[in-house]
Amino acid sequence: MKEERDATPRADRLTIARALREMAGLLDASGQETFKARAYARGAEVLERLDADLGALVDQRRLTTLPGIGPALAAMITDLYETGRSQTLEEQRQRVPAVALELSRIPRLGLDKIAALHAALGVKTIDDLEAACVAGRVRTVKGMGEKTERRILEAIRRLRSPEAQRVLLPEALAVADAMGAHLKKAPAAAEAAGDLRRWAESIDELSLVVAADRPSDTLKHALRAPLLADVTSRGKESFQGRLASGLPIRIQVVSRAAYAATLLTATGSAAHVEHLERLARARGVRLEGETEADIYRRLGLPFIPPELREGEGEIEAAMAGALPADLVTAEDLKGLVHCHTVYSDGQHTVEQMARAADALGMEYMTITDHSPAAAYAGGLTVDRLKAQWEEIARVQERVSVRLLRGTESDILADGSLDYPDAILEQLDVVIASIHRRHRMDVNQMTERLVRTMALPCFKIWGHALGRLILSRPPVECRVEEILDAAAAGRAAVEINGDPKRLDLPPHWLKAARERRLSFVVSTDAHSVGELGNVRYGIPMARRGWVRRDEVLNSRNAAEFVQAVAPAGRR
Ligand SMILES: [Zn+2]
Ligand SMILES: [Zn+2]
Repeated sequence: MKEERDATPRADRLTIARALREMAGLLDASGQETFKARAYARGAEVLERLDADLGALVDQRRLTTLPGIGPALAAMITDLYETGRSQTLEEQRQRVPAVALELSRIPRLGLDKIAALHAALGVKTIDDLEAACVAGRVRTVKGMGEKTERRILEAIRRLRSPEAQRVLLPEALAVADAMGAHLKKAPAAAEAAGDLRRWAESIDELSLVVAADRPSDTLKHALRAPLLADVTSRGKESFQGRLASGLPIRIQVVSRAAYAATLLTATGSAAHVEHLERLARARGVRLEGETEADIYRRLGLPFIPPELREGEGEIEAAMAGALPADLVTAEDLKGLVHCHTVYSDGQHTVEQMARAADALGMEYMTITDHSPAAAYAGGLTVDRLKAQWEEIARVQERVSVRLLRGTESDILADGSLDYPDAILEQLDVVIASIHRRHRMDVNQMTERLVRTMALPCFKIWGHALGRLILSRPPVECRVEEILDAAAAGRAAVEINGDPKRLDLPPHWLKAARERRLSFVVSTDAHSVGELGNVRYGIPMARRGWVRRDEVLNSRNAAEFVQAVAPAGRR
């Protein structure tokens, strides 16, 4: 028997991935080991996309069975998983000069530029660099111009913004799970509250509410969580601190009797909770109950799902009996839409993707690789596209899921699509997305997209606003005008489940619903694991109050094919 140890990992999968990325950055900053740097960056990506249980792979010493994970990376991952530290990483941190390390936090500032800035201007810290930019001195350094100076300044401001500490949903869920696993040993019931429970696109604090028979003991146990790096404030029933990843955390431990009310108020939003409090005062009742549903009932309301609690009309709708009862759920989806394969930039073959869809019990799946203009993503020429049709036909004989031929066609600068009509008409489904020229001015962009929506071919407007959460703003355009054009033409709107995209954003979904547009909840999967992206797409749809009937891939295969047929016949 092994000695009893706390089996909770010292670092979760995404924290380890970040450490690998840091290692890649350090190797890059050292300027000599770009090959090794790429290996660490690839390893980070493998972990980010991993479906399997990392703990089992570590325990069984099977990490090297993962593609791209050699013995060196496996050793580092194991150290981080088991101890939260890595000697290799720490040594590398020592090796890179402090100046380089500090300044390499600015994206695309390589060691050569850092050395030049240091030599010419004596820049040592990000503060120094900011001052030099503001004074217009960076542009005087050889090899740098005004444009570089502006870019550096923007990067510094981004680094400093409160946005910089926000994390995306997968990371927030991973740490919430790890904390939950730790707390379960207490024994206690724990649930994430706050923005995460409302499925905000990114999170700046993890809030957990815990019910315990002996709250003070459970609080002590919570304070021993391996992921917790430090505690910033502490009360009788709660504490605030920071996780090893830097993410702020707030934990409230309460008696079982107070659990539902605490969870309700900790879930928010502030506007929603204030409205409930007003109702409670008016009725002379308190926000108490055994479950959240009890509390809503006391206020004369049906249960309001957490992702609707924004204080944006949901309580009024609930009072009027107008809250949609048939919001779309994951169980409603019959088809997986927007899937990439090795034909473009996906990691798995048509057959691997199809078998995964079979395993998920799906009725159909659209294979939608990139079009030629997306050359960086291996976009398919017409010949390659036709070769894929043959492969789809071959695979179809071996799987049950119905495979639909599609494309994710680039929307070109003039609003047209990236294959001739004669080709588009032979497809089952066309997703139309912007991948290049994101920075047109608002008029040009609006015109471009209005033109796309008006094309006779039926198209699903893919990751509509082109945003990357926390890293790229949405394109500038008049969304309502484009939605009008979509409603007048032949188009549906994608609710992209890639946790970096989640596009069209929920508040615009409401505007699309007002225009009676239809939706697909898609995966934008580039691997078998990412077929699970519907986990993120569904709550976004629900936040936009999207109902089952409005989601085309909640229909059966025949109805779906008919609804999205590019040529409009069939
Ligand atoms: Zn795309
Ligand atoms: Zn895609």
